[in-house]
Amino acid sequence: MIDTHTHLYLEDFAPDYVAAVERAIAANVEKMIFPNVDCNTVEPMRRLRSQYPKEIYMAIGLHPTEVTGGDIDTQLQFVTEELNRRPEDYKAIGEIGIDLYWDKQYREEQLEVLRRQMKIASERDLPVILHCREGFDEVLEVIDGLEKVPQGVFHSFGGTIEDVERIRRRGDFYFGINGIVTFKNCSLREVLPTIGLDRILLETDSPYLAPVPHRGKRNESAFMLHTASYIASIMGVTIEEVDAITTASAQNLFDINITTQ
Ligand SMILES: [Zn+2]
Repeated sequence: MIDTHTHLYLEDFAPDYVAAVERAIAANVEKMIFPNVDCNTVEPMRRLRSQYPKEIYMAIGLHPTEVTGGDIDTQLQFVTEELNRRPEDYKAIGEIGIDLYWDKQYREEQLEVLRRQMKIASERDLPVILHCREGFDEVLEVIDGLEKVPQGVFHSFGGTIEDVERIRRRGDFYFGINGIVTFKNCSLREVLPTIGLDRILLETDSPYLAPVPHRGKRNESAFMLHTASYIASIMGVTIEEVDAITTASAQNLFDINITTQ
């Protein structure tokens, strides 16, 4: 399995970051994608990746909750600098998006920062990892204004059947499903057949959103099995099928070759 969205480099895992990676590998998560948050998380992310170059891949971007009112070029400077310095190290632009749940103050800035990062993705032929919280219409608005729409994933997807269709009309997108789907009374399970197994990417969003039976605790990539087996039971397939199909999709989207390592 590939955990397509995990932040094992964050301080929640200090001091023993390596142990969390080892538990993931032992739990059949053979690859992990680390999306960046802001300029301060690049170094911790790179440090852990340097210890596991075959298992860990990275994405770089500025998270919408870290966008401020300052100059946008300055805020995005670390993204372009990193990409220029080490283009081979990054498999995607992310995580990027719109988050108006915590703060609506920088709505316009978030839109512009997203627009620019989508453009960077297109120019470099990289997929995007989209974070979208109380900002779905805004993300679609940005996509509609683009000359070229990059491929990507709507990470931590929790929308409706209608949302799936609205996304689909706009391009070649996948849907990141995490522990939320295992939560009691979560309506997302009814949306899974519309998404289809071939458009689902597994993720944990560690340290957040731990699946049942770990709900409320610190999440980690090793817990992804619970989400995978839940998806298997909802869709009436085996966990091996969930593994095979979602792994192939993640390899395809992020250009990861699992066999040659
Ligand atoms: Zn995240």
